[in-house]
Amino acid sequence: MAKKKKELLPFPRLLEKPEACLGCGYPLEGIPAPGSCPECGMEFYDRFSGIQIAGVAKKSGGPAWRRAVWVVIAIISFLYFNVIGVLIFTLPWMALVIFLAIVAGVNAMIFTSPNKKGAGSEYFIFVQNGFSRWPTGTKNAVREFRAWDGVNPCVFVKPVSRVWGSIKIVQFDERGKREVVLSGGFRCRTEQLPLVEQSIEMLMRGESICDDEGLFEQLLEGMNNPADDGFA
Ligand SMILES: [Zn+2]
Repeated sequence: MAKKKKELLPFPRLLEKPEACLGCGYPLEGIPAPGSCPECGMEFYDRFSGIQIAGVAKKSGGPAWRRAVWVVIAIISFLYFNVIGVLIFTLPWMALVIFLAIVAGVNAMIFTSPNKKGAGSEYFIFVQNGFSRWPTGTKNAVREFRAWDGVNPCVFVKPVSRVWGSIKIVQFDERGKREVVLSGGFRCRTEQLPLVEQSIEMLMRGESICDDEGLFEQLLEGMNNPADDGFA
């Protein structure tokens, strides 16, 4: 189930100074590190400050209200098609109006769908204050930053194949409501999955991945070895 791609996605890497701001995508070339982005003020560092994985995010069902609207449209459509036989003879204009309303509703929902871009491959870059999503392949892609703003964020990493893992990131709000912030797959060798999980956990706690010397050495050894990237 490893994704067959024309170009293989890279294995996880430690992140030094990013080439562009993780928050807004502003190019950081020529700006001395450590520093902060002139555009949005997000800080960046000159040492290893994060971890980058490459993969594909699952499409989410979107926010709860969107699911509710879909349910309402489905119920109205169901009722409509049950009474259309009668309606078309008694109130033909109403039959038409309701039909157009259903079509307009479905179109509006599809048009405003947050996932209409489809599932392309992305880089997911995890740092101490959150994670950034960079779609691969497109130059001027929108880079999205998501802060660890929930209570008690958790990461779950599981093997899918020898070179593909699944990742799920869950946060809770103050009232304990669970939110899946990221769910998808990424390219990684099975033996490196625990390292990825451990690093993301540290970053979520606001710790630096350089602080745990043992882990950091393993990370450096296992990742950022260019010879690794040709491995399929
Ligand atoms: Zn910025």
